[in-house]
Amino acid sequence: MADCVFCQIVNGKIPADKVFENELFIVILDIHPASKGHSLVIPKKHVDRITDMDDQLLGEMAAVAKKVANGMQKSLGADGINFMVNNGKVAGQLIDHAHMHVIPRFSADKIDFGWNPHKYEANEIKELAERIRNSIRII
Ligand code: ZN
Repeated sequence: MADCVFCQIVNGKIPADKVFENELFIVILDIHPASKGHSLVIPKKHVDRITDMDDQLLGEMAAVAKKVANGMQKSLGADGINFMVNNGKVAGQLIDHAHMHVIPRFSADKIDFGWNPHKYEANEIKELAERIRNSIRII
């Protein structure tokens, strides 16, 4: 898409600091990092959301993210990694081109992705599990 920032990065029209590239993905450093080394795994083909990606491409995205994470642990001494996907604006997706955040974590980094847990009423948890289960028909 012509007006998509990530498509323009893929096409070399906007510069970015690449840490990995293959035929299907590029991985760049996020310019607003949660920690130093915070990277974005971006499919070269424009897809709005991760839920629009075909299963094979999504699997390959996870494999690329793992490769980058292992590299971060080796090169940066990261103690852990957050793999994050914001799917849709309400979930915090800022660029409408699917991407996965790979965020190196360090024991003293003080990053807080915490949320305030909700409480389920009576049988609500069972009812919600059933609704979701029925929608994906796995059981
Ligand atoms: Zn795009």
